[in-house]
Amino acid sequence: MTARLRVAIAGGSIGGLTAGVLLHELGLDVHVYERSSAALQARGAGIVVLPMTERYFTERGGDDDRVSLELSWWKYVDARGTELSADLDRFRFSSWNTVYRALLEAFPPDRYHLDHEMTTFEQSGSTVTIGFAGGTAVEADLLVCADGVSSTARRILLPATDPAYVGYVAWRGTAAEVGLSPDALEDLADSMLYQVLSPGHILVYAIPGEEGATEPGRRLQNFVWYRNYPTGGPFEDLMTDRYGERRDSSVPPGLVQIEHVAEMRSAAAGLAPSIREVVLASMQPFVQVIFDLSSPQLVFGRVCIMGDAAFSARPHVAAGTAKAAADAWALRDALQDQGDGLDAALENWQRSQLALGRSVVERSRNMGQRSQFQNTMFAGDPDWKFGLFEAGN
Ligand SMILES: Cc1cc2nc3c(=O)[nH]c(=O)nc-3n(C[C@H](O)[C@H](O)[C@H](O)COP(=O)(O)OP(=O)(O)OC[C@H]3O[C@@H](n4cnc5c(N)ncnc54)[C@H](O)[C@@H]3O)c2cc1C
Repeated sequence: MTARLRVAIAGGSIGGLTAGVLLHELGLDVHVYERSSAALQARGAGIVVLPMTERYFTERGGDDDRVSLELSWWKYVDARGTELSADLDRFRFSSWNTVYRALLEAFPPDRYHLDHEMTTFEQSGSTVTIGFAGGTAVEADLLVCADGVSSTARRILLPATDPAYVGYVAWRGTAAEVGLSPDALEDLADSMLYQVLSPGHILVYAIPGEEGATEPGRRLQNFVWYRNYPTGGPFEDLMTDRYGERRDSSVPPGLVQIEHVAEMRSAAAGLAPSIREVVLASMQPFVQVIFDLSSPQLVFGRVCIMGDAAFSARPHVAAGTAKAAADAWALRDALQDQGDGLDAALENWQRSQLALGRSVVERSRNMGQRSQFQNTMFAGDPDWKFGLFEAGN
């Protein structure tokens, strides 16, 4: 085994950090290089936690409640709030911040380097030289690029592979439970609520509160509302923030133009009362662009791309963080068992993760088309389930 293989990871979010903790545990010489100059901050929204997202914590004997909370019911309601269907279907939910902080705690701080934006890399034999903004450079035997949907590495390696806007965005936001009415709190206590719209849909679920609190009353309620914005004028205007800057993949909390926030809030009149309450109580709603992105190749000699840098699936299957974590676990397995050498191990990793990425993108694309353009999503739809490998799993 290459016990001291030098691994540089570009991107220190959930994908890069999961790879970091696993490869460090394996005894490899791992460093994570993150572009941001300060500790990362959540975009203020929730994530669905599939088993793969928190596999590191569950396998290390941790308490699930440390990183997520569980809701028992998956319910659909109509515009009056009448329940249309209720499935006893347990899923776990968290906030990006909670998972990120827990992973960061598991990784040696002297190996996590903020303010390191990878700008270049060059391969010579089996060595990769990685250059950073500011002119510094490091050498590694393997460069793992977990640098997100706007990946620098992918732009260099696969210049023709770009994320494609799919014609709709997710409006997202959170509201503290402490400010919600008793009726809304009761509806949302142990249930995720969906409302099918025409077109689109909205869902609301609880996530841990600011300090990670998971008890009802101290949590946040998180909404995700899929709304169509045709390419061109309406979309361009939405993506231009209130200071005139054109944003790429999201317009962050507090920066969406006031007119767009007002329009979204007035459209909330058509939502079920408890869902509407959460939307209207959300102080800083923000916009996340929905893309389809499929990379045809993940390994380029001693450089590989993973997580959102490689594939970005529409969020309907809720597998973004789980897919990034799955890439990291599979890389751990590949590097642990290098019977036929590193190149063969990376080749095997690429084969399995390309197949997984393609299937997630395809499944979520079909769901999105049904909801936003074909209007064939329906309350209680058994095929509408979160899952990394298949619906429900
Ligand atoms: C701050 C932050 C908050 C998020 N909040 C949410 C959320 O609330 N809900 C949700 O569903 N998803 C959220 N996501 C997205 C979610 O993390 C990803 O969809 C998923 O986990 C896959 O993660 P990833 O690590 O592959 O990519 P990402 O999470 O996008 O991380 C990519 C990382 O690479 C860094 N980076 C980019 N370019 C470079 C470079 N050239 N050199 C070095 N570093 C670079 C970025 O700063 C970022 O930290 C968030 C991501 C970030 C970065």
